[in-house]
Amino acid sequence: MLKVKPPDGYPSEEGRYVRGNDYSPVAVCVILDTFDFAIPPELNELAMAGIDSSAALSGMLQTENIGLEKVICNIVANPNIRYIVLCGRESAGHLPGESLLALNENGVADTKQIVGTKAPTPYLYNIPLELIERFNQQIVSIVNLLCQPGERDIDMPGLDPKVIQKAVWSCYQEEPVLFRGYTLYDIGAYPEPAISHKIASKLSHPQQDILQPGKSKLSMGLMFHKFLPKTNCKRCGKRTCLAFAIDLARGKCQPEECPVLDQPESAADREALAKLLE
Ligand code: SF4
Repeated sequence: MLKVKPPDGYPSEEGRYVRGNDYSPVAVCVILDTFDFAIPPELNELAMAGIDSSAALSGMLQTENIGLEKVICNIVANPNIRYIVLCGRESAGHLPGESLLALNENGVADTKQIVGTKAPTPYLYNIPLELIERFNQQIVSIVNLLCQPGERDIDMPGLDPKVIQKAVWSCYQEEPVLFRGYTLYDIGAYPEPAISHKIASKLSHPQQDILQPGKSKLSMGLMFHKFLPKTNCKRCGKRTCLAFAIDLARGKCQPEECPVLDQPESAADREALAKLLE
């Protein structure tokens, strides 16, 4: 099984995390829903449970923009990481957990706005698009154990260190393991070299002149989405119909690449899309 030594300088971004086993296929991401000078002990315990059970990295994610960019930089710098265990409770102000899931599900628009999240400023403005795409290819699954905002019951799976340990353990098994609806095992390193990237700027909002052109692409994508079958069957090679719609708006794919749209019952939608694309 392919495993690689992470490059010098890994992990490239500092943060509230601990480095564990570099060859592990999983990182643990605990949502921090308070100020970082007052981290609740139960969240620290979750991060430590990740490291104790041999995760590659285990720590806190606080914001839907710069915090998430740091996670991306550190993960693409270690191709061995193929899974993220997402836990803790969602931060109602920033929605970083929802943003991470939406990123992995739908990607970003040309403006680097994460598609499909209600977070207030979900822009990954300080890292290149290639890095974001690589992150989405490298991470095959996010094991979502995230609790609702304000959840205090430490017996909930996303707040229970034992459940986090079991999730991490499942990710590095040689044979597939069923864990809460996810089939997990160590599939080996992503077969491309590590990418070392250090964030130079710390902008959480894109500049207006760059935002505008992409924003219209996003709006077009949302319009195209209305005419797609919305089965999310992935037969077009995209993760979701929304991701397909955004790529249609960017000119990166054609309606013919959706075989479901080709069925006779989709003729009206096909025609409408063709007119919109004229
Ligand atoms: S093939 Fe069509 S229906 Fe299936 S995911 Fe792609 S766009 Fe959606």
